[in-house]
Amino acid sequence: MSLISDHTETVVYKGANIKLPLFLDYQSTTPLAPQVHEVLVAALKVPGNSASSTHIFGLDAKEKIEKAKEQIADLIAARPDEIIFTSGATEANNLALLGYARQFKGKGHIISVETEHNSVLSALNELNDEGFDVTYLPVEKDGRLSLKKLEAALSAQTILVSIHAANNETGTLQEIEKIGALCRTRKITFHTDAVQALSTKSIDVIQNEITLLSLSGHKLYGPQGIGALYVKRGTPFVSSSQGGEHQQNIRAGTLPTALIAGLGEACQLAKECRNKDDQQLLHLSAIVKDKLKSELGDEIQFNGNQRARIPGCLNFTFKDIDAEDLLLSNPSLALSTGSACASTSHAPSHVLLAMGLSASEANGTVRMGLGRYVTEIEADFAASLLVEAYRKMKT
Ligand code: PMP
Repeated sequence: MSLISDHTETVVYKGANIKLPLFLDYQSTTPLAPQVHEVLVAALKVPGNSASSTHIFGLDAKEKIEKAKEQIADLIAARPDEIIFTSGATEANNLALLGYARQFKGKGHIISVETEHNSVLSALNELNDEGFDVTYLPVEKDGRLSLKKLEAALSAQTILVSIHAANNETGTLQEIEKIGALCRTRKITFHTDAVQALSTKSIDVIQNEITLLSLSGHKLYGPQGIGALYVKRGTPFVSSSQGGEHQQNIRAGTLPTALIAGLGEACQLAKECRNKDDQQLLHLSAIVKDKLKSELGDEIQFNGNQRARIPGCLNFTFKDIDAEDLLLSNPSLALSTGSACASTSHAPSHVLLAMGLSASEANGTVRMGLGRYVTEIEADFAASLLVEAYRKMKT
């Protein structure tokens, strides 16, 4: 038995059975796709260290890793030898920023944006302490970065620009193609945290002029604990880990074959499913949004650019309530108030504050993450339950 099975129940809604609790937190993590599960379990059963070159077990592990590199590279139009495995996107972001910048030994200008994930902001704060000049650009009210502001901030000293592809709290997309082009013409390295975008958006590292890109297995219906950093061939890098020659001296340590095989499969599936997923999620989010808007009117506000966004992520603010109280008193819905990586601090979201929301508006905000395995009726049910819960809190 597990905590979840102890709390499972089935309700009938509009003639359909709905299994509760309903998982609607796909930005925090995605369920494992059945195809990925199969590949992962099969790979777990075989021993073998991909660095052992003298027997068939090591060679088998190496073959699985090479296949996964091809699948990951194919998703972003990279080459397999440009893929470096990490424990997830936190490490990929740290590695990208520290590993690239440190060759300049504290001298140079770096640009990012205030709404980045904490794994980017913290690494940049560290670089700032080492002497780098770091600019955190503000965003507009809709969460987007103004290209004019970016262009004005670029200087002859700028060595690195790090802008995420999609925000993990609001789903807002940044114009990474244009940002890549701005960087390329000035020969500036461009890093993007593409974690939240890759399951529904096509990202091509060549066309988008990206030098470094971070991704994570568990945001792509793959396993937790595995991610990757794309490092464009020829990019100079300072290794941050010592003790092994694995992965072109960029990152040391034995590779987790099964997790990597699972990540590869997840990337292949993402490429096959992303157009269909994109359409399906647009439809589901319209169901939720229409219901919340028609029932609550101006008592609810949707945050972030409503056109340029990943389709499964909805971020909305209820008027004059504490969203955490609402979620805790409604355990049938697994939703969040924001980033899982910041959930131990009860401070209002830095992303929402940067977009101009007040602290109390930020505290009244819910993030709903719809995904591949959510049905129409579940989306409708969730919206109805939220309306009911909100009204109950207000009485
Ligand atoms: N970047 C973004 C945009 C994310 O949403 C997350 C996970 N919340 C991360 C980085 C960190 O990824 P991981 O959990 O794989 O370390």
